Amino acid sequence: MEIAATEIAENLATIHRQIEKIAAESGRDAASIELIAVSKFHPFDRVAAARAAGHHSFGENRVQEAVAKFSSLRPSRDEVTNPPLKLHLVGALQTNKARQAAQFFDAIHALDRENLALELVKIRDQGVALPDLYIQINSGEEPQKSGIFPAAADVFIEKCRAEWQLPVIGLMCVPPAADPPELHFALVAEIAKRHYLPKLSMGMSHDFAAAIQFGATAIRIGTAIFGERPAFATAPASQLGAS
Ligand SMILES: *Cc1c(COP(=O)(O)O)cnc(C)c1O
Repeated sequence: MEIAATEIAENLATIHRQIEKIAAESGRDAASIELIAVSKFHPFDRVAAARAAGHHSFGENRVQEAVAKFSSLRPSRDEVTNPPLKLHLVGALQTNKARQAAQFFDAIHALDRENLALELVKIRDQGVALPDLYIQINSGEEPQKSGIFPAAADVFIEKCRAEWQLPVIGLMCVPPAADPPELHFALVAEIAKRHYLPKLSMGMSHDFAAAIQFGATAIRIGTAIFGERPAFATAPASQLGAS
């Protein structure tokens, strides 16, 4: 399971080349596509290797793990780091962790329900500057997955923006594993377009090429950069900096 720092650097370079190629083929500018390195479950030394290779943008799916792993680099979003660091929360957010997430991350990718939206409004009204928000669309209407069903998307997006004035910049989706992803990417891109939302968070290790073809502006890649995830999240905060 060990992965060498050189391998992480090579994987990043390979994915950047693929992004360039697919973007060119799709008539897009590769610079408009952010590569988010999803480091969930991976130990800190793999993040450090990616940073040493010049990578700045990371994704985690749990607030606690992200804070434990990254707070030695950047205690809060207000902090300026050199080299720069951009942190994305790509997983579901519990309402009781919304404040901490809002203060720590540059973007939250899974605004998926009204009570979370209302909690973010409350936090904002108490003076916290909110990060960029993506609304998660459950394009396959899968009961075990979070996200707004496509049929409810228009109303929810409108409410978030017009009524609650939340800083929604785009939509996010995770297509059903069994489906060809193209239909889902196309559907989510279409919803974003009719709301003039500029950002699309879609595409993972196995389907990012298709996501870019359908307009992804942020792709979330874990395995293709860091290798297979360890079965358990590694190391408490006190040990994370040491490795
Ligand atoms: C884990 C995760 C990813 C990365 O998945 P890989 O298949 O390892 O690239 C992307 N998005 C979300 C929401 C995730 O939870």
